[in-house]
Amino acid sequence: MASPAQAKDAEVLRFIEEMTSNVDSMQERVLAEILAQNAGTEYLSKCGRPTDRATFRAKVPVVSYEALKPYIQRIADGDRSPMLSTRPVTDLVASSGTSGGECRMFPNIQDVGGRFQHLYSLLMPMMNLHLPGLDKGKALHFLFVRPETKTPGGLTVWPLLTSMYKSDGFMNRPHDPFRDYTSPMAAIVCPDTFQSMYAQMLCGLCQRHQVLRIGAVFATGLLRAVRFLQLNWEQLAADIEAGVLTSRVADESVRDAVAGILRPDPELARFVRDECGKAEWAGILVRVWPNTKFLDVIVTGTMAQYVSTLRHYSGGLPMVSISYASSECFFGVNLRPLCDPTEVSYTIMPNMAYFEFLPVDDDDPVLVDLARVEAGREYEIVITTFAGLNRYRVGDLLRVSGFHNTAPQFQFVRRANALLSVDADKTDEPELLRAVERASALLRPHGASVAEYTSRTCTDRIPGHYVVYWELLLLTAGVTVDKEIMDGCCLEMEEALNTVYRQSRVVVGSVGPLEIRVVRPGTFEGLMEYTISRGASINQYKTPRCVTFPPAIKLLDSCVVSNHFSAALPRWTS
Ligand code: AMP
Repeated sequence: MASPAQAKDAEVLRFIEEMTSNVDSMQERVLAEILAQNAGTEYLSKCGRPTDRATFRAKVPVVSYEALKPYIQRIADGDRSPMLSTRPVTDLVASSGTSGGECRMFPNIQDVGGRFQHLYSLLMPMMNLHLPGLDKGKALHFLFVRPETKTPGGLTVWPLLTSMYKSDGFMNRPHDPFRDYTSPMAAIVCPDTFQSMYAQMLCGLCQRHQVLRIGAVFATGLLRAVRFLQLNWEQLAADIEAGVLTSRVADESVRDAVAGILRPDPELARFVRDECGKAEWAGILVRVWPNTKFLDVIVTGTMAQYVSTLRHYSGGLPMVSISYASSECFFGVNLRPLCDPTEVSYTIMPNMAYFEFLPVDDDDPVLVDLARVEAGREYEIVITTFAGLNRYRVGDLLRVSGFHNTAPQFQFVRRANALLSVDADKTDEPELLRAVERASALLRPHGASVAEYTSRTCTDRIPGHYVVYWELLLLTAGVTVDKEIMDGCCLEMEEALNTVYRQSRVVVGSVGPLEIRVVRPGTFEGLMEYTISRGASINQYKTPRCVTFPPAIKLLDSCVVSNHFSAALPRWTS
């Protein structure tokens, strides 16, 4: 008779084998199921009701969010007719992607959550094949919910993970040794970020010897937790010493849950003070949680900028980016979880949706099936889902790095069009331009305007922030622009940025105040000369609107004459 752990191992191995063999036939079956299930929808009817792959390819157009927006608006307003899916829409999932400055929303249907949950439930058993014993302790995983809203038609709008954490299946799950968190559920679903983080950190400290992995969804979440510990360890130690939770955590259900874990423990309080009071925080995570085997946190894509900081705080623990998913769909898993962050590849799960790929840098791109992508090439991923997205461009660019059985594996390259991203925020080039123009208008009455600009993210400190370099054109010789005006320009730019940026600034605190660095006249010419000296064509040179190359950043920083920050928070309403 196999033990529960052995049975789980067998299930995981069977699952991986099944998913990575016969990819094409599985994809054909998934598409047939989706087309049969959604045949009666308004959307597919308009596309001539395709019933097989050939007619689907011939009749259904490849679309971006803008094409779906009118349908989603009708759903939000209360239209319950089978528009995109024949299954009832249960809620709307708000993604961090934006459209026209607002959050994108995607309709959710019942059975999609089940598919997601099943895959998620296999991720840690899969890790256990690589690092056995993960079922013998707990996870200090910082999980948060975000505020939810209602549409005029009464549907709840929330981020995917909020909907997952608040689901019955998660809240009332039977004991699962692979999903045994140090954080009580009441702390996870507490909407106040400070109280939630405080309670999660405190419970994590109290159970420090049981912790086998530390994580958050993305690297930024974990670094925010480290920063939180830096700012709050004295209060946390005081609570541990007295066995009493600070009154700053007022939520009754959180207080009740913490009371079940917190005991007076002067020895632990002393330990926390000794470790956190040291000037040197290198390796703090393994010092405080000595049995940690790895960091369970995504460090690919835009999160790659945080790898060295995480390495510093974790004393070099492996960083595991286990899955790749979005509000629209679950895409894939990392079958070599312990590899270096630069080598992470995701194997797309062919049972989750129908996947097609649009070759990048092709003059006349033709969609390619999952089973037919070529190693080394870059593609944009296009999905057709049970919830009613048909040939929808997600906006992620991926490179094929190899195959597992017949399943292609992909490295995440970047988000198409995203110029700046510190956390969930994504700012593209037209948006940055609009923000610069709006702020620049504040200079005009003072005889100045922005002649040139570029930008970058600065993540030396947590939270990271946007840095925008401005070269000013002074319309009248000798004019100067007051500091208050420049500070106001920073805020004006933030006001002009999208809703996810402003939410990250105001509600989550995961993005710091925007900074404008004014550079001396001639700096951008210097940047151009430098770029051309490295081989760029003088005819085709365009000022880069984002700089990442360290020598170019150094050049810009060496020309800074003044720097300015937003002195207030931008407006944000849910
Ligand atoms: P959201 O819909 O707000 O959950 O954001 C989903 C997006 O986050 C994806 O489309 C990707 O751009 C990014 N993302 C999710 N998982 C990963 C990952 N493992 N590596 C890199 N980027 C990711």
